[in-house]
Amino acid sequence: MDDRASPFAGDLSYVYPTKTSPWGTFLAQVDRATPFLGSLAPLIETLRRPKRTLIVDIPIELDNGTMAHFEGFRAQHSFARGPGKGGVRFHPDVTLEEVMALAGWMTIKNAAINLPFGGAKGGVRLDPRKLSKKELERVTRRYTSEIGAIIGPQQDIPAPDVNTDAQIMAWMMDTYAMNTGLASTGVVTGKPVHLGGSLGRVKATGRGVFVMGCEAMKRLNMPVEGARIAIQGFGNVGSTAAELFAAAGALIVAVQDSRGAIFCSRGLPVAELLAHSQGGGGVANFSGGETIDRESFWDVACEVLIPSALEGQLTETRAGRIKAQLVLEGANGPTLPEADDILGSRGIVVVPDVICNAGGVTVSYFEWVQDFASYYWTEDEINQRLAKIVLDALDHVWEASQRLRVSLRTAAFIVACERVLIAHVERGLYP
Ligand code: NAD
Repeated sequence: MDDRASPFAGDLSYVYPTKTSPWGTFLAQVDRATPFLGSLAPLIETLRRPKRTLIVDIPIELDNGTMAHFEGFRAQHSFARGPGKGGVRFHPDVTLEEVMALAGWMTIKNAAINLPFGGAKGGVRLDPRKLSKKELERVTRRYTSEIGAIIGPQQDIPAPDVNTDAQIMAWMMDTYAMNTGLASTGVVTGKPVHLGGSLGRVKATGRGVFVMGCEAMKRLNMPVEGARIAIQGFGNVGSTAAELFAAAGALIVAVQDSRGAIFCSRGLPVAELLAHSQGGGGVANFSGGETIDRESFWDVACEVLIPSALEGQLTETRAGRIKAQLVLEGANGPTLPEADDILGSRGIVVVPDVICNAGGVTVSYFEWVQDFASYYWTEDEINQRLAKIVLDALDHVWEASQRLRVSLRTAAFIVACERVLIAHVERGLYP
């Protein structure tokens, strides 16, 4: 037997995707869209491999005077439609394979939402809770220097993701500026507002989930008022979605994070839960709700489920158990392909990550445009333009899903793959 034969035949020698790993999930999602691409289908191989990957060593001096080494990555999946764009994650489980998948999803997301960007993603394998602020700054600056040759305002523009925020972006921008001698505010997005950041960026991803979620609920005849919502992940994305849905009259009945899970059938008091979780211990031990087993979170009676933590959370088993009729994917890659099939067969609608959480990159795009123009918009302008872009994308993908009789995810991949591959055809093959 040809030892290259595998479900991912012709694949890269340096990564071994499985059915449940992020890159394996990404490839399966691309493969589901391919039969619908007509004359573009033979070109799909270009989306089944990243344009470029970089692994860097990050040596830093710890506060106690000893040295530590961390592994960092930047994957650039496609630049066909514009510069690379995608976040930077600090997490102990970061791998090259995960970053490649996240970069691939960024290509699909930016194309599905019709932004002039390609796809990229980065990460450093570390547990930020174990580092001091000074140590985190040293890691961030050295990581930025090491990937400095392949990022830039016209090349590849990082942004916040899991465990990274406006402060990390400020250090990244400053390091890039020191190394190049250019002000280069446009090298990262998600910066503090007085350093060229955009109003509305911090809450943009959760706001996009909320705006799209309300529209999807309208189309499914599900009232927002009184709807019971369960949310996994209570960081930037999950907590903002919780705040906005609660303000619209929905009941946030359960929240699970990495520390625990909490439940209240009458709806959790979101502001108090947020203050408690920001105290450092996550949602665990919150006195305004009942502590439940983390796995029982998936059995909670609700109309809407919002996974907003990490990849691979909705497994086949959990997909068979959940009670929600609508899943809004705040996280990237939370649903495995087999779980998607189960949700589909149960009539559960999934608004996929590649459009559902695109509010963040949409406002990152606004930030990048404002930095080039050195002219800044009001928060109302940002929020209105955000809503228009994400709702147009939902409308387009919803129509394709009904016309082609495929899930919203496959429809989004079809729309996006067509756009990226048309750009490839128009550019031609270099040299
Ligand atoms: P964050 O670091 O602010 O929050 C992550 C949350 O997930 C925390 O509450 C953490 O406790 C929880 N979590 C981590 N591991 C978990 C586990 N094993 N089980 C349950 N909960 C767990 O990160 P974020 O920026 O909110 O990102 C969350 C997701 O949204 C990620 O998939 C990210 O890629 C995606 N996303 C983020 C943005 C953005 O603008 N921040 C944009 C698009 C997509």
